[in-house]
Amino acid sequence: MSLQVYINGRFYPKEEAKVSVFDHGFLYGDGVFEGIRAYGGRVWKLEEHIDRLYDSAKSVWLEIPMTKAEMQQVVVETCARNGLRDAYIRLVVSRGPGDLGLDPRKCPQPTVVCIADRIALYPDEVYEAGMKVVTSPVRRSPPAAHSFQVKSLNYLNSIYAKILAVQLGYPEVVMLSSEGYVVEGTGDNIFIVKKGRVITPPTYLGILPGITRAVAMEIARDCGYPVAEEIFTLHDLYTADEVFLTGTAAEIVPVVEVDGRRIGEGSPGPVTRQITRRFRERTQTEGTPIPLPVQGD
Ligand code: PMP
Repeated sequence: MSLQVYINGRFYPKEEAKVSVFDHGFLYGDGVFEGIRAYGGRVWKLEEHIDRLYDSAKSVWLEIPMTKAEMQQVVVETCARNGLRDAYIRLVVSRGPGDLGLDPRKCPQPTVVCIADRIALYPDEVYEAGMKVVTSPVRRSPPAAHSFQVKSLNYLNSIYAKILAVQLGYPEVVMLSSEGYVVEGTGDNIFIVKKGRVITPPTYLGILPGITRAVAMEIARDCGYPVAEEIFTLHDLYTADEVFLTGTAAEIVPVVEVDGRRIGEGSPGPVTRQITRRFRERTQTEGTPIPLPVQGD
């Protein structure tokens, strides 16, 4: 059976899942989204993702035409209909169809889309041996212009950096703020570990308040490590004992080289491994259940 995609209250086979070319999500990147995971028949951190979606929408003056509880149900039902127990879920709310001008008031009906599909992961090698990355010459947009605190459909800043990563042959690049502070990856948050302290940049630099980032901070605290949201520089990154990236799709990725500088021993460090282990345990046991499809459904 073809993948079933939710659009505005109905499910459509993948081939027929279409939205208007007048949708301002398409014309202007005007909208917000979430990337969510399901593990073993449970949606991981669903409430947190829905809260962030509604915060993003509020920030861009977009009113989502359903309650948070209804939106949670959309996600769970999209997984259930597709018989997916392990999935990557893309939830999108765009401004909706309007005219050819920017004015969001011309778009009376937002478009709500939910796609659940199988997840394409980094190869195991990346988690076992660690990832080599470089820093991107493309800087993160300053928060005064466009903040990545909002998970909007406007990802060109990250795409510019990703193009460079692809051209240079790296799976991911580290982005810096316009002042040169380390901020995040194109689609992941970043952490350093130095003398047992676990440090990640503060969100006021205009980075996404990652759900995986929050879980990694919680686990690190539970393990007894001091955790800080602190601004840090490239020098701090190069001289860290450990570096790792966090994201819904990537989970926790050890970084073993940055711009040709070996990090720590050049293999995933003990703090990263401990956090990863606990993270995996939690994803296997927590989450919002997806009902099994009823026969004949
Ligand atoms: N930063 C950016 C720019 C991202 O796109 C993502 C992935 N959504 C993240 C960080 C990681 O956030 P999360 O852990 O919520 O997936």
